[in-house]
Amino acid sequence: MSDTIAILPGDGIGPEVTRAAVRVLTQVRPDLTCEQAVVGGAALRAGMPALSGQARVLCDRSAGILFGSVGLPEFDGKPLAERPEYALFLLRRDYELYANVRPVRVFPGLEDASSLKAELVRGLDLVVVRELTGGIYYGQPKEQRVVDGIEEAVDTMLYRAPEIERIARVAFELARTRRKRVTSVDKQNILETSRLWRRVVERVAREYPDVALDHLLVDNAAMQLVRRPADFDVIVTENMFGDILSDEAAILTGSIGTLPSASLGTKRTASGQFGLYEPISGSAPDIAGQGIANPTAAILSAAMLLRHSLNDDANAQRIERAVERAYALGARTAELASETPPLGTDAFAATVLANLR
Ligand code: NAD
Repeated sequence: MSDTIAILPGDGIGPEVTRAAVRVLTQVRPDLTCEQAVVGGAALRAGMPALSGQARVLCDRSAGILFGSVGLPEFDGKPLAERPEYALFLLRRDYELYANVRPVRVFPGLEDASSLKAELVRGLDLVVVRELTGGIYYGQPKEQRVVDGIEEAVDTMLYRAPEIERIARVAFELARTRRKRVTSVDKQNILETSRLWRRVVERVAREYPDVALDHLLVDNAAMQLVRRPADFDVIVTENMFGDILSDEAAILTGSIGTLPSASLGTKRTASGQFGLYEPISGSAPDIAGQGIANPTAAILSAAMLLRHSLNDDANAQRIERAVERAYALGARTAELASETPPLGTDAFAATVLANLR
């Protein structure tokens, strides 16, 4: 039986870039069954919840989810359960997608698009592994209250050793397939959770003697990322630090439209790990419907799906090399084009297709 992939295009540029990614995915793997469901604002507009029962059933029987993006200005200000983003929240929660993996690469030829000097980002190829289901975003108590007539608020940062162990393993396993270096980021000079984090990461590291481990305090990590970004291989960190550092790492590349992500959980598929794969950007309402969005992030998300959920590294690499070739040949979408006339979303995808070997 062929593997089913859940295609959830969502809102804004989501459907445009996802269509491009599905073209590439089905070209390299025509055996896959790609089934689509409406989520996010598109579902809400049709009178359904952001994540409908039908979409959930599709995800349940799929090997992985290729997700576009969710969010529409008309739903801003509504409570979370009535907003498009609730679809993503439920998927992350219900499939316990605890590991957010964000590769950050500067493609040869795109160095000048970075906000840093070209020589600093040349060869930049790092991955941020962010813990996604614990820490201060979820710990209890978490509330605003009035005590003795004074307003106060509390958030709780809580980690248990098993949560740290499993995310550390994701980072070390990944490092083994790359340059074999893990940088763990914490704030152990101040935070108890960070002291536990560092101890557990060091414990896990003993199982990976072939991988070098170093530690950085989060404030220093933020500086080193803009000072010597090309030195990093795999960065592993807790939820809130990862939220901030992964966005900082993302802007180093010059376009948010080039960066894919995977969110992996505990569920296994026949040949790999179930996961949700999506561009790191949002729905970009400012350019939606114009056919000019960069589909690179969506196409590379499909490559990550092949690698992690279908154990198909060969085809993942085929796609990644085709994207690389497209850039090397000068293909540029509007946000990156300076000298060459820009390609639209579909034309860029066609260039990637033409460069599949
Ligand atoms: P955004 O990432 O959608 O856009 C930021 C800027 O980057 C915009 O100028 C946009 O045009 C540009 N951009 C983004 N993707 C691009 C691409 N592929 N090609 C070219 N340019 C691209 O962030 P935002 O404007 O802050 O958010 C818009 C909506 O998306 C909001 O409703 C927000 O809640 C939602 N959002 C969703 C996700 C998600 O689905 N995972 C993530 C972030 C934001």
